[in-house]
Amino acid sequence: MFNEVSLYANHFIGGLSKVKAFQDKDAESLEITNQKRSLPELLDLYQKQVAETGINAASGKHLGYIPGGGVFSAALADFIAATTNPYASVYYASPGAATLENEVVNWLKKLFSFPENSVGCLSSGGSISTLIAFTAARDYHQVKNELITKNVVYLSEQVHHSTQKALRIIGLEDVVIRYVELDSEHKMKPDSLEEQIKKDLAAGLQPFMVVATAGTTDTGAIDPLDHIAEIAKSNKMWFHVDAAYGGFFIMTSKKELFKGIEKADSLIVDPHKGLFLPYGVGAVLIKNSAAVLHSNYYTANYMQDGANEEMLKSPANISPELTKHFRGLRVWLPLQLHGVEPFIACLEEKLLLVQYFRNQLADRGFCLGPEPDLSVSYFWFPFENDAEAKNKKLMQEIHADGSVFLSSSVIDNRFVIRMAILAFRTKKEIIDEAVEMIERCLEKVK
Ligand SMILES: *Cc1c(COP(=O)(O)O)cnc(C)c1O
Repeated sequence: MFNEVSLYANHFIGGLSKVKAFQDKDAESLEITNQKRSLPELLDLYQKQVAETGINAASGKHLGYIPGGGVFSAALADFIAATTNPYASVYYASPGAATLENEVVNWLKKLFSFPENSVGCLSSGGSISTLIAFTAARDYHQVKNELITKNVVYLSEQVHHSTQKALRIIGLEDVVIRYVELDSEHKMKPDSLEEQIKKDLAAGLQPFMVVATAGTTDTGAIDPLDHIAEIAKSNKMWFHVDAAYGGFFIMTSKKELFKGIEKADSLIVDPHKGLFLPYGVGAVLIKNSAAVLHSNYYTANYMQDGANEEMLKSPANISPELTKHFRGLRVWLPLQLHGVEPFIACLEEKLLLVQYFRNQLADRGFCLGPEPDLSVSYFWFPFENDAEAKNKKLMQEIHADGSVFLSSSVIDNRFVIRMAILAFRTKKEIIDEAVEMIERCLEKVK
């Protein structure tokens, strides 16, 4: 059985450079029946119905949304995790697995200069990390009952939608939300933030939390973290940083842009993005452990064998999850096996590739968004008339072509096409292929 799966995996990875990044097809015939089927038959079904429909997210030709790729050694780590199946949530049940997960969290704390006594956990992704962070913020500031409608959360229009979603889920749908003005590079203007806070205080409202982004999904911009941190501190607000996409670029030449991230009360970062790991691993760091324990620490009679002093060693006390996937191993093993250097080199490469991509498009008459901080940018073609409709048509042609996948957005009321370069398999040749594809599609629209 293992050999067949191994052959399949080799075949899949070996074929990645040749297959399309996007196939607009529905999946069929995946229904579970009483019929037993052979593994080769099932692998064939998987290939056709799963691997060859939609976006090929393992491919380096995925330049839409936020890619990542899926480092193969992480798949092997998952294989070991699933085979040995340790109970990683509770220290008493598996001191080794819990310690390993905590060491991943410790590594992240060092990376972002968070104090040793901060807490954190590995989640399934950025959205769940945000929920955990916001719940701690809510409980620390005691935002409840009639106080909810008096508390103000400050956001940027470029904030990821998981932010508003998290507020709704944790019962803070009715907080006051202020969208702070942005500058021409789509970054939050600290002066506008300060002004808005003053107005709100004068109106008898309570400034509660500000959310800054270190690498926005649409434009890759990093908000002025240090300045926002100071404003949050002087107003006794919770400072949350969403570094889901951009966080790991702190290891690169762009480190300076992250100044102030260490002042955050909470921070999220997605190893399934910037560490190129397979989907299903995010992380959250929070400075105030009491606020986290308030909602997540709960004992049950049947769990009394695990003593209380092990409270902070058990991932279950920091997270809403109890029984869970031992996801620490898929972070720990690749980092130990390859070392951190190749990850940094890959991130640096993505920064260069976005510049190269932009230059190629500029040479061909495209308009580009502002100089990006990281590896996401956007473009549009300045058609003489019906520019909006024609750029939409261009996007449709690109999706129909599918050789390289790009996605679109609306920025400053303009329909734009994004390039998100983060997959570890994305190389210069793929950017060249993307440019060729775009030219081909442009001809069709013209
Ligand atoms: C991807 C992303 C999220 C959401 O993370 P998931 O892992 O998809 O749940 C949040 N914020 C930003 C900036 C992102 O890029």
